[in-house]
Amino acid sequence: MRRKMAAGNWKMNGTQVSLAELAAMQGMSKGTVEVLICPPATLIYAGAGLKTGIAIGAQDCHVAEGGAHTGDISAPMLADAGATYVITGHSERRQDHGETDADVLAKTEAAWAAGLKVILCIGESLEQREDGSTLDVLAAQLKGSVPEGSTGANLVIAYEPIWAIGTGKVPSTQQITEVHRFLRTELASRFGDEVAGAMRLLYGGSVKASNAAEIFAVADVDGALVGGASLKAADFMPIVSALN
Ligand code: PEP
Repeated sequence: MRRKMAAGNWKMNGTQVSLAELAAMQGMSKGTVEVLICPPATLIYAGAGLKTGIAIGAQDCHVAEGGAHTGDISAPMLADAGATYVITGHSERRQDHGETDADVLAKTEAAWAAGLKVILCIGESLEQREDGSTLDVLAAQLKGSVPEGSTGANLVIAYEPIWAIGTGKVPSTQQITEVHRFLRTELASRFGDEVAGAMRLLYGGSVKASNAAEIFAVADVDGALVGGASLKAADFMPIVSALN
């Protein structure tokens, strides 16, 4: 049985006062639902120190363990600060920083080496959705960015259509169903039924309280990666509750 997951990506939002929101989320992670918040790196240590029971993750890591990489943060540093997860391959990293599938693969392996679990994001652009190449794009991203050695314990895949992120647009349940079924099948053909069956597949893109239950009812959706609606405990709570 796959444990459900509600993961929040705060992106470049949040200062010390935002820790009150994290504190207010105390107790949300329980039983069959795992809750994760990925605040900006500046809040990881303090966030983990709150001991809310909510897992704390990072939004990116460097591939190297350390060295001359001004401004970057390595996976062992994130683990040292109290992170247990890291997001790799978010479309904003792919777009804003030119990260390729090969980069995402290398970062994922670096995260594992530091003992971190990974939420690896894939997703098509609006142009790709409209020209009918969505499944080909996703297959290529899986092939290029998901490392050998992936398991249900070290990897979560997040399907995030780029056109749905922060736009208020959400794919139809049929579209989400088609993609998640496809991802599970692709993973099974590469890693076998057992591994693919244990791997959590999150949907991400404009998830909010009003649409969460409908999305979570889709087969092969094991939870969500949530941006804007994870910043406030009052907005995130009903999404987490919809997973129960
Ligand atoms: C995201 O950035 O991962 C995301 C899903 O954002 P939002 O929920 O705001 O669309």
